[in-house]
Amino acid sequence: MGAEWPTDLLDVDALLARGFRPVPFQQFVLKVHSRCDLSCEYCFVYAMADQTWRSTAGRMPFTVLEKTAARIAEHVERHGLPRIDVTLHGGEPLLAGGEFLATAAATLRARVPAPVTVGLQTNAVRLDEELLTTFAEHDIRVGVSIDGPAEAHDANRRFADGRGSHAHTAKGLELLRDKRFRHLYGGLLCVIPLDTDPVRTYDALLDHEPPAIDLLLPHANWTTPPRRGYGDWLAAVFDRWYDAPTRRTSIRLFEEIINLFLGGSSRVESVGLSPVALLVVDTGGSFEQVDSLRSAYHGAARTGLNVFDDSMDTALAHPAIAARQIGTRALADACLSCDILDICGGGYYPHRYREGIGFRNPSVYCPDLTRLIKHVAGRVHADLRRIQP
Ligand code: SF4
Repeated sequence: MGAEWPTDLLDVDALLARGFRPVPFQQFVLKVHSRCDLSCEYCFVYAMADQTWRSTAGRMPFTVLEKTAARIAEHVERHGLPRIDVTLHGGEPLLAGGEFLATAAATLRARVPAPVTVGLQTNAVRLDEELLTTFAEHDIRVGVSIDGPAEAHDANRRFADGRGSHAHTAKGLELLRDKRFRHLYGGLLCVIPLDTDPVRTYDALLDHEPPAIDLLLPHANWTTPPRRGYGDWLAAVFDRWYDAPTRRTSIRLFEEIINLFLGGSSRVESVGLSPVALLVVDTGGSFEQVDSLRSAYHGAARTGLNVFDDSMDTALAHPAIAARQIGTRALADACLSCDILDICGGGYYPHRYREGIGFRNPSVYCPDLTRLIKHVAGRVHADLRRIQP
């Protein structure tokens, strides 16, 4: 490991000796193309601290795809996993071409001895009828990144020449909603546009009739802190969504906070204390941690392991991956004494980073998480009191 690694790395051998048992990976992100056709302001792959994309291959070579499928199969077999999820990611995955994406889905399903859900996350700029017909044939679900109304989206999500991409993305979404392809529609991913009215943003997303929306906090940490106001922004969207006479879409962040408040466990990384069971395979076959760690520092997502030389069980024992599986044991003292710890869970791991210290800090979004969680809990609590005799 390089000198840039944080100083709070875990001693995994000691953890194992004390009874820590890693949770096998069940979600895999395959970076099938390392380039993108947009130049988004906030992109953690191209615009932030980590610049490793400069040295990675364009499209994932077939040898890497084959070996990745074999490694996943080995992992599934060893742990008796009942099913797995694979996301074909990038850069921009559509740059890999329909034929490659179809081959990726077919290869994974042929090799892995369990059902495989295959999806991709795209900017939809290149989404057309031919690609969607291929995705329908290979049951590949499509998630689309869009940041609300045109002016919000185009402020960040631009082509290299400065043109906004909203019109292209909206056109792709219109095709995806066609009755021939609607069943492939996974949902929308929106990086919160703080300068745009929250309700207007939510209503603009609803125009695309998404089955689900993921609202993401922009990547930030204590070394490169965010602006303030995200908690208020999210609380306003929550009220619009929660008070609607009919539920028109699922918003995962809100549903998970309610679920945790009612005593359940979380299925997302951004809240709760559930172990993270996700592994990224880079275009060249390297195992990486969650991609958004690239926002912290150069090389932050690296593990030094790869599909050709290492099993996925070896990646499970990597200190930085173990840190995201051990729940409260990885948290800062301030989080351990926090009254909403069970719901917040210390926030999304990359948001905890501070140069010179590492990740054992509260989330840099702590005030926003506190505002949102207390708001959601207050609304749900009031409703529960109303229906109790
Ligand atoms: S990040 Fe803040 S709100 Fe979350 S558990 Fe830590 S102290 Fe509590």
